[in-house]
Amino acid sequence: MVNIENENPRYIKASRKFHKDNTVIKIDNETVIGDKDLMIIAGPCSVESYEQLIEIAKRVKKAGAKYLRGGVFKPRTSPYEFQGLGYEGLEILKRVREETGLKIVTEIMSVDDIELFEKEVDVIQVGSRNMQNFDLLKRLGKTKKPILLKRGLASTIEEWLLAAEYIMNEGNPNVILCERGIRTYETTTRNTLDISAIPLVKKVSHLPIIVDPSHASGIRWMIEPLSKAAVAAGADGLIIEVHNNPDKALSDGAQSVTPDMFDNIIKNVKIIATAVGRSV
Ligand code: PEP
Ligand code: MN
Repeated sequence: MVNIENENPRYIKASRKFHKDNTVIKIDNETVIGDKDLMIIAGPCSVESYEQLIEIAKRVKKAGAKYLRGGVFKPRTSPYEFQGLGYEGLEILKRVREETGLKIVTEIMSVDDIELFEKEVDVIQVGSRNMQNFDLLKRLGKTKKPILLKRGLASTIEEWLLAAEYIMNEGNPNVILCERGIRTYETTTRNTLDISAIPLVKKVSHLPIIVDPSHASGIRWMIEPLSKAAVAAGADGLIIEVHNNPDKALSDGAQSVTPDMFDNIIKNVKIIATAVGRSV
């Protein structure tokens, strides 16, 4: 159990006991996360084509997102489901970054891709299924890239912070935690969003934490209330799946919002953000 009094934490570099101020992460001298401004990441679960990605990217940018998500190596439960476009998908992400100015966030699955991702990707995502892939974490710790570390499907907060410690212990302090729901006995939602993880992480750690309401719920209409709850509870940002034609999406369509819905979500999140002293 995580020691909320922070007396003898097993994580050291991730602990607020030894680092009182919130971590601020920058890319090219521009703050990514760690100040008043929320980090808003949006985009499809999977990159499917250039046409799909550019259309979504333009819309989410207009709504206020500064980061574009899109998986190209997909950790699918079944080997018969769409596995992602791979390196071709990465080229599409780069082209859309060039054309929109949005920074790109994408998931790494293999240590073999670290050099390429270090060169080409702005924020490297470690998915839930790889949260305890210690080899991958250690190698990412040798880079200086911001690492978006998703909480494991069934991981405790202490295990999650110890996973962050693996990255930090190799010399990379730029870890962003992402609460994306955990497995519970509830089956109505895909996972259960652990809202208490937000204040808990804030208390024991100086690392920023964002919330993924898409994978947490698996339900499109639930993204807005969960986004508002996350920001109200102190989250430093959101990562939301947006698709221009969710019913035809190659992955996670049921939880993807349309660009119009995303506009509204951001408008309403702004109201909550202002109430808690944050901005979008
Ligand atoms: C994703 O972001 O598309 C994803 C696979 O997330 P997670 O690792 O949280 O399941
Ligand atoms: Mn997804």
